[in-house]
Parts: sequence; structure tokens; C-alpha cells
Amino acid sequence: PVVTRFAPSPTGYLHIGGARTALFNWLFSRHTGGKMLLRIEDTDRERSTEAATAAILDGLSWLGLAWDGEPVSQFARAERHREIGEELVRRGKAYRCYASQAELEEMREKARAEGRPPRYDGRWRDRDSAEAPAGVRPVIRIKAPQEGETVVHDKVQGDVRFPNKDLDDFIILRSDGNPTYMHAVVVDDHDMGVTHIIRGDDHLTNAARQTIIYQAMDWDVPVMAHIPLIHGADGAKLSKRHGALGVEAYRAMGYLPEALRNYLARLGWSHGDDEVMSTEEMIGWFEIEDVNKGAARFDFQKLEALNGMHMRRTPDAELLDNLLATLPYIEGGKAMADKLDDRRKAMLLQAMPGLKERAKTLVELADSAGYLFSERPLTLDEKAEKLVGEPPREILAGAKAALENITGEWNAETTEAAIRAYVAETGLKLGAVAQPLRAALTGRSTSPGVFDVLAVLGREESLGRLGDLL
Ligand code: GLU
Repeated sequence: PVVTRFAPSPTGYLHIGGARTALFNWLFSRHTGGKMLLRIEDTDRERSTEAATAAILDGLSWLGLAWDGEPVSQFARAERHREIGEELVRRGKAYRCYASQAELEEMREKARAEGRPPRYDGRWRDRDSAEAPAGVRPVIRIKAPQEGETVVHDKVQGDVRFPNKDLDDFIILRSDGNPTYMHAVVVDDHDMGVTHIIRGDDHLTNAARQTIIYQAMDWDVPVMAHIPLIHGADGAKLSKRHGALGVEAYRAMGYLPEALRNYLARLGWSHGDDEVMSTEEMIGWFEIEDVNKGAARFDFQKLEALNGMHMRRTPDAELLDNLLATLPYIEGGKAMADKLDDRRKAMLLQAMPGLKERAKTLVELADSAGYLFSERPLTLDEKAEKLVGEPPREILAGAKAALENITGEWNAETTEAAIRAYVAETGLKLGAVAQPLRAALTGRSTSPGVFDVLAVLGREESLGRLGDLL
């Protein structure tokens, strides 16, 4: 069975690149009926924080990327990392190195002078520990092969070859006994039974070094898939401006988790020409082999358009639930949430078909639903103020009288019929009536269809709002 893992370092929020890595691991595990484990790579004690871990878990949960089992703390496994480090020494696959800081600095200097990358020269590789200088606490280095090449068989990048002369005897255990990142990842992935490693291609060189550790332990190397990084729309490295934000920023911008999943999946993976995909479809179709080699470009406009499409596909009640869950995170949303009683919820649900037709995000949706939350008398914005005109506002008064004549049910059809009758009677254009009406009812110059607004507000509130202006 397939076991994937997502292994974030808790040094900040769950950024969009990490979210996509998690998504690919999740899609692949769901596609194969396997598991996705979560490992918090918190060995860097200076930079790892509880708050970051909480933000990552929250981000994954919001995105709907459920992991299997309990999250594993890498730091908590330090003893096991030491054990394997010592085991490698016993097997003759690693050794203690007593080189001093000054010696290492000298090696770096030399490399710099010769214009090549710094490389440990292996001076303790074959030396007896009996020669160790007194009082120096050694590090443990892997005995990396010096000839030939290390090949990473990558599902996305193909076979990537690393000449072993470029890979030095890197450190696996520091002098304080703590593992390096390189070592901890291998021991953890092995112990967790990880079969597939899917992560950013910035880890490709690490994959070669990690392969050396696997081989030294005679462990199976998991299947590797290094996915291309996400770039900005202009092709440059992703920056904040391009969308390199935490997923919670996307929640606050009013994107649906399902739409963001769809968008992120399309960053680097595709299934024919399909753009709008449900999560079920993506799970059914996701294959690592279909991940592109080239960098993906993050494009806010595409994300927005896709989000709008997902909103329109979402059933009204479900979209309302999404909106309610998101309100606390969006600007001005808390005030709305505080006013949400059952009556307003029912109004929102009724208004949803009209609202979702025009909104690309939940923020826009909330904004155009604002009229449902306004208290009488409404404050009109500048454009709306212009549209209702100066008193005595005959058109508004006439429209109100026409609406008052409705004796039966009050809905979009009956209100429309009443206004159309008034238009016919006066010879005015429909717009000349609808515009001031909308402005008076919503306080804004744009809104969903005015008859929908009338229907949702109901007779009493509608006539009340019109009356306030007369
Ligand atoms: N902790 C690493 C990172 O956040 C990922 C390590 C891995 O996936 O092997 O970049």
C-alpha cells in the first residue's frame, strides 16, 4: 500500500507551495487507496514554533487535506536518529570526524580560492579514532561513495545523475548528537514506512544525499517525485506579490477550499484540457506521471475565475455554509456574522442564486449581500444618492405606490409585474425606475436583480426602505 507524507518545517504559515505539495501527496494517496502521513520537521529548535505548527494544521484542515494518524514530531525522534547514526559507524558506513572549525574554514577558503563549491576533504575517513585530539567532540559523517554516480530515479524529473565526486562526506550527526536534516528525513521516512516522497524540486540534490544514506543502511529507497516549484505569473520566483502567502490569506480573500484545491492541482498537473474539476474527479485522475516538469505559474486571475465557477456549481445551502464559515476571517465579516439571525440566514439563502451569479469570491458575495444586513434608515453611497434623486422623488413614490397595490403573494414575479405596469402607465424606461429603486433598497448602485432584492427583503422591509426616502 502506498504511504506518502507531508513534512513541513514549522517555521511559518502553510504557504501556497507547501499546500500544493501536501495536495499532491494527498491526491496520490487517495487515488491509490493509501495513506498520507504528516511529519512536523521541528528539529530546528530556534526557528520552530508551536504557533507555526498550529497554523499548518489549521491550513491543511481548512483545505480539506486530512492526514492519517497522529502528526509525527521529528524532534521527538532524535534518539532514534542517533541510534542509526551509531549503527552506520558500526557498519563502517560512517565515521567520526574531529576536524576543528579552523580546519573546516581552511577547506572552505581553499575551495573559494579555486572557485569550486566547498567540500569536506575526507581527512578522517580512514583515520583511527585513537588519533582523536583530546577534548574535541566529533561529528559523524557518512562515508559517501567517491567514484561513480548516485542516480535519483525520479517520477517527474526522470533519472537524475549526480557524480559522486561532487557529493562529499556530509554530516549526519552533529557534535551535540543531534541529527542533521538530511539524516533525520531518511530515518523518519524509513521508519514511517513511506513508499513515495513527493516534494518540491528544490530537494532534488538532497535526494541524492539521502539515497546514499538509504544505501548505506541497505534500506529500500522510496519512489521519488520532485515537483517543479511555483513561479509568479511573470515567471519570476514566487514572491508575496505573486501570491506566496499562507493559505489562511486565501481563506480571507474568500476562496473556496474546493476551488483552491482545483487551482493548486492544476499548478503542475493536468488532466487533458479539464479546468474545473471536483475533488472526486481529481482523486480519480491524479497520476504522478502526469505532473509537468516545467515550473508552474501562479495566476490570481485564473484562480478567481475558477473560484467563481466553483461557487456557481455549489448548491446554495452549501455555499451559505461556506460563507458562514468564512465570515469571521474576512474584512468586515465579523460584524455581519454578529447580525446573522435565522431570519437573515433565510434571506441569504433565498438571495443566493442571484448573489452567486455575480461573485467571484466569498468576499464579493458577502459584499453584495450587504444590503440584507443594513439597518433602516439606510446610508446610501454616493452613486446611490445620485440615483434616488432630489425630493420629492416622484419615481420612487410612484414605484412604491405600485408595489403597495400588490395584494397577493410578494415575490420576484409579482413585484416585477407591478413595476412593469407602472412603467407602461408612465411611459418611463424600465431602467429609469429600476435604478433608483435598487439604490433606495440597497444603498448601492449595483446589486443582484432588483426584483430578487424586493423578493428577498419582503414587503414590509422593502416598502419601509422606500418610505424612509420619501
Ligand atoms: N521540511 C522540508 C521542507 O519544509 C521538507 C522535507 C521533505 O519533504 O523531505 O521543505
